[in-house]
Amino acid sequence: MKLIEQGQGRKRELRFTGHPISPGIGIGPVYEAAEPALSFQHRKIAAADIAAELARLDDAVSVSRKQLVKLKAKLAGLPEQSQIEISPLIDAYLHMLGNSRLIRGARHRISDGMIGPEAAIMEEAESQAGAILALTGSDKEGRSRRAEEVREIARRVLRNLTRLPFRNFADLAPGTILAAESLRPADAALIQPSNFAGVVTAEGGADGHTAVMLRALGLPAVLGATGVLEAAKPGTLAIIDGEAGEIILNPSARSLEAAQIRLAARSRTQRALARLQRVPAETTDHVVIDLQANLELPFELPMIAESGAHGIGLMRSEFIFMNRETLPDEDAQTQIYRDIVEAMDGDPVTIRVLDWGSDKEVEALAGYTPDTAESNPALGLRGIRLLLRHPELFETQLAAILRAGAAGPVRIMLPMVGFQSECVAAWEIYDRVWRRLKRRNVRMAENKPPMGIMIETPAAALAAAHLAKHAEFFAIGTNDLTMYTLAADRSLPVGSKLYDPLEPTILRLIYETGVAGHAARIPVSVCGELASRPEVAPLLVGLGIRQLSMHGAAIPRVKRAIRAVSLKQCREIAAAALAAAEADDVRALLH
Ligand code: PEP
Ligand code: MG
Repeated sequence: MKLIEQGQGRKRELRFTGHPISPGIGIGPVYEAAEPALSFQHRKIAAADIAAELARLDDAVSVSRKQLVKLKAKLAGLPEQSQIEISPLIDAYLHMLGNSRLIRGARHRISDGMIGPEAAIMEEAESQAGAILALTGSDKEGRSRRAEEVREIARRVLRNLTRLPFRNFADLAPGTILAAESLRPADAALIQPSNFAGVVTAEGGADGHTAVMLRALGLPAVLGATGVLEAAKPGTLAIIDGEAGEIILNPSARSLEAAQIRLAARSRTQRALARLQRVPAETTDHVVIDLQANLELPFELPMIAESGAHGIGLMRSEFIFMNRETLPDEDAQTQIYRDIVEAMDGDPVTIRVLDWGSDKEVEALAGYTPDTAESNPALGLRGIRLLLRHPELFETQLAAILRAGAAGPVRIMLPMVGFQSECVAAWEIYDRVWRRLKRRNVRMAENKPPMGIMIETPAAALAAAHLAKHAEFFAIGTNDLTMYTLAADRSLPVGSKLYDPLEPTILRLIYETGVAGHAARIPVSVCGELASRPEVAPLLVGLGIRQLSMHGAAIPRVKRAIRAVSLKQCREIAAAALAAAEADDVRALLH
């Protein structure tokens, strides 16, 4: 990305650009959030806890193995020389994570020494490293390398034992612009928006799940701003412009003044948009479009209430499973869903069952992911594919949603459906859970809540007419649909030649899905990031979509765009876009 320098003073103004992720202007000191230092306590354990603590160690060792097996698979993409250097090291690590002296020694310290696994693995590693270093012989360098390898593998196990918090954002000063090399979706979920003026990272693209989460937080955010971290000292004053995708370090007085002016203009626009909260999203010829909100975590609810959303079109439930050591049980999930349903006060809440896998890592589910490394996780086991392999997780979640349904309307949504057989299997489980709760007289919705599916693979879009027989609604996930159709990662920049949801191929899949859904008389919505782009809303309406779901902050602008056009104009745009050869032609039409 671009770097521009101005001025001759000691603190020169530096400008960086990245991907605009979430609009807004933030002014504040930049702080880099590093991974927290590893620490552990030498903790005594009770005899009754030995088995559980041994199991914790075994889990952490198995997660560490999986991580390394994955890493090994990724090495295949490196130049041969790098592979030759790194492969033997990974093999040595994997060996140490088997039935090695290190692991046996750590287990012994837990069962006989009765200390916690964190101290057990670190102290065992230290003792073995010390013994290696004390050996005599000429290869001193080799000995210290081996000692460091033992320590390194113990640190990995410790990291997996003490997974929380991955990042510690708590000790950053309020009003800070958070800077990081990269953020995982789970890290973004730890951010308290009121404490930050903005977020900038050196890596990441616009439709990845980290971007989705940052938009939900409503914080100005720029991802992929290469070089910022190298240039910013802790505390450097910065301006972040999430709409322009720009970061200015050491801003001059003129830049600061310009930012203040834009900030004031933005507040005026926000106030004007807020006045739209109560008016319907209808075209000039009175076709009403249902605008709903996407929700990741319950703290977004007040923002959603202000946005004028008619319900939740997509609750990404996987986020409530992140950043915790154990899975939320049925009661805990029921409480979370019920709170959301109650807050929506009669508007429907669409809860998508766990869509984990690929870039959405859920630590508490580490033991549920496949043992063998997937060299391309986005194409492997994710979403419904994993849930059907772990029906106990699916059943617990379904039961919790059904119980929350006693408080108001809920809908159940299946992620990553590709095959009719997946719908059939999911319905069998759903019917079974419904019958079981009925038999036990559990309080739940009177009528069985609708179950629908995400259309986010080309296979699902092309088979929509068949899938409609097994779904009570469709929700088109344009983020994954674009990724899988164009064979381009969704964390690539939007509008790059590779990843572009405006490609006519994607529009045709949206259109055909709509046709199939309407023929089967089931509702069809779009809930991917495309639905949040105001300039695209008329096109989606023209393609036959009458329901759009997006992050709350986007609703007023999308509503304003819909209120400015007629259905006839929308259809004309859609017809031209469907006939277009490529995304640039569609973009030209929209402008
Ligand atoms: C999508 O793929 O468009 C979608 C809405 O699901 P997610 O972004 O959570 O993968
Ligand atoms: Mg998706």
